[in-house]
Amino acid sequence: MDEVRNRTAVLGTGEVPWDSPVVPADDPGLRGDGFFETLLVHGGIPPRVVRLEQHLDRFERSAAAFDLAVDRSAWENLVTSITDDVPTGTEAALRLTASAGTCTATLRPLPESVRRGRDGVHVITLARGTSTTPDAPWLLNAAKTSSYAVNSAALREARRRGTDDALFLDAAGEVLEAPTANLLWRAGGRWWTPPQADRDVLPGTTLAAVTAALGVRETPCRPDDLLAADGAWLLSSLRGAAPVRSLDGTPLPVDGSLTTVLRRTALEP
Ligand code: PLP
Repeated sequence: MDEVRNRTAVLGTGEVPWDSPVVPADDPGLRGDGFFETLLVHGGIPPRVVRLEQHLDRFERSAAAFDLAVDRSAWENLVTSITDDVPTGTEAALRLTASAGTCTATLRPLPESVRRGRDGVHVITLARGTSTTPDAPWLLNAAKTSSYAVNSAALREARRRGTDDALFLDAAGEVLEAPTANLLWRAGGRWWTPPQADRDVLPGTTLAAVTAALGVRETPCRPDDLLAADGAWLLSSLRGAAPVRSLDGTPLPVDGSLTTVLRRTALEP
C-alpha cells in the first residue's frame, strides 16, 4: 500500500520541502503565542478531512482571542492542496498552525502511538491546580493555543509512571480533561462530560460530534465517579475514542460495543 507523504505548506507561499525551516527565529508562535488545529485525514479519492468546518470554526475563535483573523478560503485551499494525495486506506495527521508571524500546514503519517491509543489507555490523575475563573478571556481557555508545554510535560509524567495518558484535576479535585483530549464517561445509561465554561477545558470537536449524535450532559466529575462508571473514554480528533483501561492503577470496565459506536461517530467525517 502507498504511504502517506510528509508535506509542509506555508500560507501565502504554498508547498515547500516537508522538512524545510519555515518559522523565523523570532516568531511569536515559538513562545507559545499562537494557536493550532490537529485534524484526521482519511485517504481516498478524494481524501476526506474529518470535520474541517468545525476545526476552522474553532481556529477562527482561537484567532479572535489573539486579535487575528483567519482567511478561511485560503486555509481551505491550502488543506485541499496538501491532502490531495493521501492514499486510499491510509490515515494522516494534518496540523494547521498560526501566529501573528507565520501560518503553516503540515501533513504527516498517523503516529503509531495514536493507533495504539485507540485500543485503550492507562491513565493517571495529575493536579493542574487551576480553578473556575469567570470573565477572564485572557486565560484563553476556549482557544487551542500553542502553549502546550504543560500538556506535554503531563504526558511525559504519565509515561514516566508507566502509563499512557493523564487527567488533569482542578484545585478542588474535579476532573477537567486530558492533556490532548476531552473526557467522556457512561453512567446510569447516559453519557457525561465535565463542565467546560470558564474552566481549563478545551471545547473539543470530537466531543461536540459525539454530543450531537448521542447526547452528552455536563456534570462535575471526581476520580471516584469514573471508578464507578460503566466506562470512560478520551475523545480527540486523531485517536477518536480511546477507552480508559485503568485510572491510577484501578481497572475500569471496557465495553467493546460502546467503544465501537463512539469510535464510528468520532472518526467519521
Ligand atoms: N483538550 C485538549 C487540551 C486538546 O489538546 C484536544 C485536542 O488536541 C482536545 C481536548 C480534543 O479536541 P478535538 O476533539 O477537537 O481534537
